[in-house]
Amino acid sequence: MDDIDTVVIGAGVVGLACARALALAGHEVVILESESAFGTATSARNSEVIHAGLYYPTGSRRARLCVRGKRLLYDYCEAHGVAHRRCGKLVVACSDDELHRLDAVMAQAAANGVDDLQRLSANEARALEPALDCRGALLSPSTGIVDSHGLMLALLADAEAAGAMLAVQSPVLRGESTAAGLILDIGGATPSRLRARQVVNAAGLHACDLARRIEGLDPRHVPQAHYAQGAYFSLAGRAPFRHLIYPVPGESSHLGVHLTLDLGGQARFGPSFRWVDEIDYQIDPADGAGFEAEVRRYWPGLPSGALQPGYAGVRPKISGPGEPAADFRIDGPALHGLAGWVNLFGIESPGLTAALAIAEQVREALAA
Ligand SMILES: Cc1cc2nc3c(=O)[nH]c(=O)nc-3n(C[C@H](O)[C@H](O)[C@H](O)COP(=O)(O)OP(=O)(O)OC[C@H]3O[C@@H](n4cnc5c(N)ncnc54)[C@H](O)[C@@H]3O)c2cc1C
Repeated sequence: MDDIDTVVIGAGVVGLACARALALAGHEVVILESESAFGTATSARNSEVIHAGLYYPTGSRRARLCVRGKRLLYDYCEAHGVAHRRCGKLVVACSDDELHRLDAVMAQAAANGVDDLQRLSANEARALEPALDCRGALLSPSTGIVDSHGLMLALLADAEAAGAMLAVQSPVLRGESTAAGLILDIGGATPSRLRARQVVNAAGLHACDLARRIEGLDPRHVPQAHYAQGAYFSLAGRAPFRHLIYPVPGESSHLGVHLTLDLGGQARFGPSFRWVDEIDYQIDPADGAGFEAEVRRYWPGLPSGALQPGYAGVRPKISGPGEPAADFRIDGPALHGLAGWVNLFGIESPGLTAALAIAEQVREALAA
């Protein structure tokens, strides 16, 4: 049985950021990934938006780690040549009621420490984006986009340069806590067992399931997983927009069908929101009609039939239908009592933006 100081389970953007932070702090790190490559799950199925941190409840981890993560991420991308663009976003109001809600978004953002929002009249918004139809808007200059795969490559390269190792096709099946350390059983072509002093469970959609298979971790500390699919439709042809365009969010925590751009200028609309019983990436092409109606509220010129089914991601939720949105959970030994173990639960949006800040907290939780 191999002895390793630190194991990170899951090579998505959060696991890779944790592995990097722990390797740079001097730990011997092995990253165990069940798939044959890093970053093929939620980290490859999102909007690739660097969120400013406007909407999350003030003081929540999602708010704090988004705002800090955004700063860290821009600095990291600039220092490491990761492709990104501070393109800004417009939050658009299409009715009187939505105009009032812009004030609430602005107040929430200010309370979260985001003080660069600008209120725009309909004419000012149209001066920035002539194809836009709205009653008014907020400009968020610090929102941007990032090449998520390039980011993960850079994080992995940093971690490896600091001595970390990635083992793919290495699913962690179960584990147990013993007096001699944390034992993990690994499946794959050549099943094996290893012993670690500390473990970070960054298994994303599978984090709750996996935590339940760790003997010695009290199941009372493991939340119920819920899944919500978010589908995207892409636009055939170029979009006449330079900024990301978001409708004002309604009562739910879902941000609405927004327009995001990739670094090549290709537009996609989404994500939708649908509770699913299992991880399901199939898109129903019939959903396109609903997308068109939502998008035409702010872009009446959307040509009909221009939206093509794109891809879908699944949100790793820990709150179910009708429940208030849960915060990120970074559960360390101080909470659950299992020495050396950290569980990351409910790391949905803005987990990509917050990854570097989450990694800081994980390092602190293990050092405490
Ligand atoms: C539709 C959608 C849109 C989003 N848009 C944005 C956005 O624009 N901006 C933003 O900031 N955030 C966004 N997010 C959130 C962001 O994508 C996630 O928070 C982030 O990718 C989570 O990364 P992760 O590393 O925790 O999980 P994942 O990327 O899911 O990685 C987990 C890894 O663990 C592996 N694994 C699972 N079980 C095991 C096991 N037993 N053994 C070994 N390995 C295992 C998986 O194969 C996977 O590679 C979005 C999410 C969704 C669903």
